[in-house]
Amino acid sequence: MNIQDYIRDISDFPKPGILFKDITPLLANHKALVSCADQLVGLCPDGVKIDKVIGIEARGFIIGSMIAERLQAGFIPVRKKGKLPYDVKSKSYGLEYGEDTLEIHIDAIKAGEHVLIHDDVLATGGTAKAVCDLVKELGGVVVQCNFIMELEFLNGKDKLDVPRSALLKY
Ligand code: AMP
Repeated sequence: MNIQDYIRDISDFPKPGILFKDITPLLANHKALVSCADQLVGLCPDGVKIDKVIGIEARGFIIGSMIAERLQAGFIPVRKKGKLPYDVKSKSYGLEYGEDTLEIHIDAIKAGEHVLIHDDVLATGGTAKAVCDLVKELGGVVVQCNFIMELEFLNGKDKLDVPRSALLKY
Protein backbone atom coordinates (compact mmCIF):
# COMPACT_ATOMS: atom_id res chain seq x y z
CA MET A 1 0.00 0.00 0.00
CA ASN A 2 1.29 3.44 -0.93
CA ILE A 3 0.93 5.51 2.22
CA GLN A 4 2.12 8.61 0.35
CA ASP A 5 -1.42 8.90 -1.01
CA TYR A 6 -2.64 9.57 2.56
CA ILE A 7 -0.26 12.41 3.41
CA ARG A 8 -1.55 15.90 2.69
CA ASP A 9 0.61 18.97 2.05
CA ILE A 10 -0.53 22.15 3.80
CA SER A 11 1.22 25.32 2.67
CA ASP A 12 2.30 27.99 5.16
CA PHE A 13 1.44 26.03 8.33
CA PRO A 14 2.20 26.75 11.12
CA LYS A 15 4.23 29.65 9.66
CA PRO A 16 4.68 31.20 6.20
CA GLY A 17 7.15 29.20 4.10
CA ILE A 18 6.58 25.85 5.86
CA LEU A 19 5.06 23.03 3.79
CA PHE A 20 3.43 20.98 6.54
CA LYS A 21 3.10 17.22 6.02
CA ASP A 22 -0.30 16.36 7.48
CA ILE A 23 -0.71 12.70 8.46
CA THR A 24 -4.32 12.97 9.64
CA PRO A 25 -5.71 11.40 6.40
CA LEU A 26 -3.38 8.44 7.03
CA LEU A 27 -4.57 8.14 10.64
CA ALA A 28 -8.19 8.30 9.50
CA ASN A 29 -7.85 5.32 7.13
CA HIS A 30 -7.65 1.98 8.93
CA LYS A 31 -5.84 0.12 6.13
CA ALA A 32 -3.31 2.94 5.65
CA LEU A 33 -2.72 3.23 9.39
CA VAL A 34 -2.11 -0.49 9.86
CA SER A 35 0.05 -0.67 6.74
CA CYS A 36 2.16 2.28 7.90
CA ALA A 37 2.85 0.65 11.29
CA ASP A 38 3.60 -2.71 9.62
CA GLN A 39 5.97 -1.10 7.11
CA LEU A 40 7.81 0.77 9.88
CA VAL A 41 8.24 -2.46 11.85
CA GLY A 42 9.62 -3.96 8.63
CA LEU A 43 12.37 -1.31 8.69
CA CYS A 44 13.46 -2.24 12.23
CA PRO A 45 16.78 -4.05 12.47
CA ASP A 46 16.57 -7.84 12.56
CA GLY A 47 17.91 -9.79 15.49
CA VAL A 48 17.87 -6.98 18.05
CA LYS A 49 15.31 -7.14 20.84
CA ILE A 50 13.82 -3.67 21.28
CA ASP A 51 12.96 -3.02 24.94
CA LYS A 52 11.30 0.38 24.58
CA VAL A 53 9.78 2.42 21.77
CA ILE A 54 9.78 6.18 22.29
CA GLY A 55 7.07 8.27 20.63
CA ILE A 56 7.69 12.01 20.38
CA GLU A 57 4.77 14.31 21.27
CA ALA A 58 2.33 14.42 19.76
CA ARG A 59 2.08 12.70 16.41
CA GLY A 60 4.83 10.23 17.33
CA PHE A 61 2.61 8.79 20.06
CA ILE A 62 0.10 7.29 17.67
CA ILE A 63 2.13 5.07 15.38
CA GLY A 64 4.91 4.77 17.97
CA SER A 65 2.55 2.90 20.26
CA MET A 66 1.45 0.66 17.37
CA ILE A 67 5.11 -0.16 16.68
CA ALA A 68 5.69 -0.94 20.39
CA GLU A 69 2.74 -3.32 20.42
CA ARG A 70 4.05 -5.13 17.32
CA LEU A 71 7.59 -5.38 18.74
CA GLN A 72 6.30 -6.49 22.16
CA ALA A 73 8.16 -3.54 23.63
CA GLY A 74 7.13 -0.93 26.19
CA PHE A 75 6.06 2.53 25.03
CA ILE A 76 7.68 5.70 26.40
CA PRO A 77 6.26 9.17 25.74
CA VAL A 78 8.71 12.03 25.31
CA ARG A 79 6.72 15.19 25.94
CA LYS A 80 6.95 18.95 25.71
CA LYS A 81 8.10 20.78 28.85
CA GLY A 82 5.80 20.61 31.87
CA LYS A 83 3.54 17.76 30.74
CA LEU A 84 5.07 14.74 32.46
CA PRO A 85 4.06 14.27 36.11
CA TYR A 86 7.15 12.59 37.63
CA ASP A 87 10.83 13.66 37.77
CA VAL A 88 12.22 14.40 34.32
CA LYS A 89 15.35 14.93 32.27
CA SER A 90 15.01 17.90 29.91
CA LYS A 91 16.66 18.93 26.66
CA SER A 92 16.18 22.10 24.64
CA TYR A 93 16.49 21.95 20.86
CA GLY A 94 15.98 23.96 17.67
CA LEU A 95 13.09 23.29 15.30
CA GLU A 96 12.47 24.02 11.63
CA TYR A 97 10.03 26.61 13.01
CA GLY A 98 11.11 27.70 16.50
CA GLU A 99 12.63 26.25 19.67
CA ASP A 100 11.29 23.90 22.31
CA THR A 101 12.15 21.68 25.27
CA LEU A 102 11.46 17.95 25.49
CA GLU A 103 11.29 15.83 28.63
CA ILE A 104 11.42 12.15 29.58
CA HIS A 105 10.76 10.51 32.94
CA ILE A 106 14.05 9.70 34.66
CA ASP A 107 12.99 6.06 35.18
CA ALA A 108 11.64 5.52 31.64
CA ILE A 109 14.76 3.77 30.33
CA LYS A 110 16.99 1.39 32.28
CA ALA A 111 20.76 1.31 31.65
CA GLY A 112 21.58 -0.90 28.67
CA GLU A 113 18.03 -1.07 27.29
CA HIS A 114 17.62 -1.06 23.51
CA VAL A 115 15.47 1.84 22.39
CA LEU A 116 13.74 2.66 19.11
CA ILE A 117 12.73 6.30 18.61
CA HIS A 118 9.75 7.11 16.40
CA ASP A 119 8.34 10.37 15.05
CA ASP A 120 6.26 11.29 12.04
CA VAL A 121 8.73 13.64 10.32
CA LEU A 122 12.51 14.06 10.33
CA ALA A 123 13.05 17.70 9.38
CA THR A 124 16.12 19.54 10.72
CA GLY A 125 16.86 16.66 13.10
CA GLY A 126 16.95 18.80 16.25
CA THR A 127 14.05 16.94 17.85
CA ALA A 128 15.36 13.44 17.19
CA LYS A 129 18.87 14.47 18.29
CA ALA A 130 17.50 15.84 21.59
CA VAL A 131 15.67 12.56 22.22
CA CYS A 132 18.79 10.52 21.37
CA ASP A 133 20.70 12.62 23.92
CA LEU A 134 18.04 12.01 26.59
CA VAL A 135 18.15 8.25 25.99
CA LYS A 136 21.95 8.20 26.18
CA GLU A 137 21.93 10.25 29.39
CA LEU A 138 19.64 7.60 30.93
CA GLY A 139 22.07 4.88 29.83
CA GLY A 140 19.93 3.49 27.00
CA VAL A 141 21.15 2.41 23.56
CA VAL A 142 19.39 3.95 20.55
CA VAL A 143 19.04 1.14 18.04
CA GLN A 144 17.24 3.20 15.40
CA CYS A 145 15.33 6.41 14.81
CA ASN A 146 12.44 5.76 12.47
CA PHE A 147 10.11 8.18 10.75
CA ILE A 148 7.21 8.06 8.37
CA MET A 149 8.92 10.80 6.35
CA GLU A 150 12.34 12.37 5.98
CA LEU A 151 12.59 15.89 4.51
CA GLU A 152 16.01 15.27 2.99
CA PHE A 153 16.63 18.87 1.92
CA LEU A 154 16.79 19.88 5.62
CA ASN A 155 19.73 17.48 6.24
CA GLY A 156 18.43 16.16 9.56
CA LYS A 157 20.58 13.07 9.04
CA ASP A 158 23.69 15.14 9.70
CA LYS A 159 22.61 15.63 13.33
CA LEU A 160 22.05 11.92 13.98
CA ASP A 161 24.86 9.51 14.80
CA VAL A 162 22.54 6.49 15.04
CA PRO A 163 20.88 4.40 12.30
CA ARG A 164 17.73 5.96 10.85
CA SER A 165 14.96 4.79 8.55
CA ALA A 166 12.05 6.50 6.81
CA LEU A 167 9.25 5.13 4.66
CA LEU A 168 9.10 8.23 2.47
CA LYS A 169 11.73 10.76 1.41
CA TYR A 170 11.06 14.24 0.08
P1 AMP B 1 12.98 18.71 13.40
O1 AMP B 1 13.41 18.86 14.82
O2 AMP B 1 13.25 19.95 12.60
O3 AMP B 1 13.52 17.47 12.73
O4 AMP B 1 11.41 18.63 13.40
C1 AMP B 1 10.78 17.49 13.64
C2 AMP B 1 9.49 17.73 14.36
O5 AMP B 1 8.73 18.82 13.86
C3 AMP B 1 8.65 16.54 14.23
O6 AMP B 1 8.05 16.28 15.49
C4 AMP B 1 7.63 16.88 13.19
O7 AMP B 1 6.40 16.41 13.61
C5 AMP B 1 7.62 18.37 13.11
N1 AMP B 1 7.80 18.90 11.75
C6 AMP B 1 8.87 19.59 11.31
N2 AMP B 1 8.70 19.97 10.04
C7 AMP B 1 7.53 19.47 9.67
C8 AMP B 1 6.80 19.52 8.43
N3 AMP B 1 7.26 20.16 7.35
N4 AMP B 1 5.61 18.89 8.37
C9 AMP B 1 5.13 18.25 9.47
N5 AMP B 1 5.77 18.19 10.65
C10 AMP B 1 6.94 18.79 10.75
